[in-house]
Amino acid sequence: MKNNYHIVIVLICQVFLYSCGQDPVVPPDETQATRDAHLTLGNPDNANKDVSNKNHFLMEKPQYALSYNNSKGTANWVSWHLSTAWKGNTERQDYFRADPDLPSGFYKVVKGDYTNSGFDRGHLCPSDDRDSSIADNSATFLMTNIIPQSPNLNQITWLGFESFCRNKMNQGNELYIIAGGYGQGGEGTSGLANTIDGGNITVPSHCWKIAVILPVGGNDLNRITTDTRVIAIDMPNNQEVNQTFWGDYRVSVDFLEIVTGFDFLSKVPVGIQDALEEKTDNGPTQ
Ligand code: MN
Ligand code: MN
Repeated sequence: MKNNYHIVIVLICQVFLYSCGQDPVVPPDETQATRDAHLTLGNPDNANKDVSNKNHFLMEKPQYALSYNNSKGTANWVSWHLSTAWKGNTERQDYFRADPDLPSGFYKVVKGDYTNSGFDRGHLCPSDDRDSSIADNSATFLMTNIIPQSPNLNQITWLGFESFCRNKMNQGNELYIIAGGYGQGGEGTSGLANTIDGGNITVPSHCWKIAVILPVGGNDLNRITTDTRVIAIDMPNNQEVNQTFWGDYRVSVDFLEIVTGFDFLSKVPVGIQDALEEKTDNGPTQ
């Protein structure tokens, strides 16, 4: 009976607090996934919002951030935070469209510019990383988040690493992910091409991605150590890429910094950044 009295007293106190308009005190939950800033780890090419800066033009959306390259008709990179806080049950919207937030004077890629090109409309920030609402999912179909990818890369090998990242999320982690393409010349179903859309869209020769994986928690930048798992991949944009598992395309971040000219993880303290960037991941691939 004593325990029951205790419960009754607690309930009365909670009702009292509630009626006073105050929430009962709840201890902070360190395991609660949140939506964190996409550029927490840095801005790889120092993109900014000056409209005259057309090839490194910074766009920050609720769902992801990107650097647009007007000469290429694609992003230089897209960067996003992934945790279960971004996840839900919204169906894939498939709403490919021009990005209305590009200022006037920029080349605005539309859905039809990829039609019959031999290349897929390949997501940088994946549709499945953003399905908590129609607005969030639909934002991944803006053409500024899309690059021309060979169908086998997009649908098999690239997808394999996307799925791996979401598996890590489901295992109690949050991730900071950056992706883009570099080089020129890919192979789609119609053969080799340097550009599509009459030269307005550059076909990258390679597609890359970097994923920084942390257990769910707060204060993410300060939790990164030389032991933090960082996976960098570099995949050829061709039809043969499906014959190899995504794990075989792992490289160091240093390699991607050389081929892109960007500085990744720039907000991570230099000593830790250098140690993480020279390693090539060889951890479990499930
Ligand atoms: Mn966090
Ligand atoms: Mn760096």
